Parts: sequence; C-alpha cells; structure tokens
Amino acid sequence: MAKTVLIVEDEQEIRDLLAHYLRKEGYRPVVASDGEAGLALARSERPDMILLDIMLPKMDGLELLRVIRADPAIARTPLIMLTAKGDETDRVVGLELGADDYILKPFSPREVVARIKAIFRRSVPPPSPSEEAIHEYRAIRMDLGRHEVRVDGTAVALTTKEFRILEALLCASGRVLSREMILQKVWGDDTYVTDRTVDVHVAKLRQKIPLLVKAIETVKDVGYKLRED
Ligand code: CA
Repeated sequence: MAKTVLIVEDEQEIRDLLAHYLRKEGYRPVVASDGEAGLALARSERPDMILLDIMLPKMDGLELLRVIRADPAIARTPLIMLTAKGDETDRVVGLELGADDYILKPFSPREVVARIKAIFRRSVPPPSPSEEAIHEYRAIRMDLGRHEVRVDGTAVALTTKEFRILEALLCASGRVLSREMILQKVWGDDTYVTDRTVDVHVAKLRQKIPLLVKAIETVKDVGYKLRED
C-alpha cells in the first residue's frame, strides 16, 4: 500500500510541487496549508511521514511539532522540517523537539524524495534485547554490556564520555545530533559543561579511532552526525 506523506506548507507552489513529485514516486500525499489543518490531518490520516514547514499561519511548525511529539497516537511519525536558510535556532530547536531531519529551502524535490527514502530505510523494527547491546558501524564494534569498543577486533580505550558520545552517534544512525542533544545524553543536567566540551570530546574520539575523522560529519552551526554507508 502506498505510504502517506503529509505536507504542511503554506506556500501553494511548494506544496503542489512536493505533492506532484511524491505522487510520481508512488507515495500518497495529503496537504495542509496551516498548522491547525496539519494537526487535524496528522490525527485523522496517521501519515507515514510528515514534511513540515516552520513558518506557518495559525500554528507555527515548531509548535505543531511539539504537539505531534506529545500525542502518543502520532508521536513516532517520522518528520522532516522544511526551513529557510537563516533559521539556525529553529533548526536546532526542531531537532531537539524530535524532528528526524531538516531540509533547507530552496530545495529540489528530488532531494526531498531522497531524504524521505533514507528515513523510511532506517525506520526498521526495534532490535531484540540481545542485539541491542551491540552496535556495529564499519570496522567498529561496540559492546554495551562489556563497555568495550573494538576496531577491526582491537580494543580501543575510551573514557566514559567518549564511549557515550560514540554510543549516541551510533544510536542516531545517521540523524544529526545537536551539541545540546549530546550534552543532554552524555552529561545530563550537569550545567558546567559547554558546547565546546562536546567538540573537544569528539576531537578525542576522532584521534583514537581514525576512521571517525571522516565518518563523523560536522554539521555547521548544529552538531554532528555519522555518515551513512
Ligand atoms: Ca512558510
């Protein structure tokens, strides 16, 4: 059955263009031109994916995202933000609110379709508990149970923070993690650390595991992500 993609976008031209391309790719687009209509459709249509513009009439995209992530019936719907170039703060807030990805305007519909496919590819069913304890990425094998990281079979000594940053990146499977998200995951509510601390630890990780130099991608003004194979 065709996957339903909800497009929430107030600019008709963009909306129509996206709907057209998605239909061509075999998806079933449904469209809304403001935040409230978007929320109503998200609840009634239960889409498989949401494309969400940030600047929207009635309820803006970030507010809509917050409502979606707080509603258990639709909270897990994959969601891509459509954001204008200057809106770095919006992007970071959006990722923290649980958006899976963002696309900068102006974009090509082909790029949007490629991102949608990538997200559908990685939303595989959750692993069984025994598999969950092992993360593998290229030559890296991370064993959570043993608190051990091996590269090509050789153990690498990581500090607890480095270990947990690597774990966060591996768990994110290609999604962007903002520095704030990494701080929250690794340091919790310890408020003495700054964004710069994250950069220092990532640098150490890259030093200890050279394949990460290229594999960990720095996302300008936002944070880090692991390149997908
Ligand atoms: Ca807009």
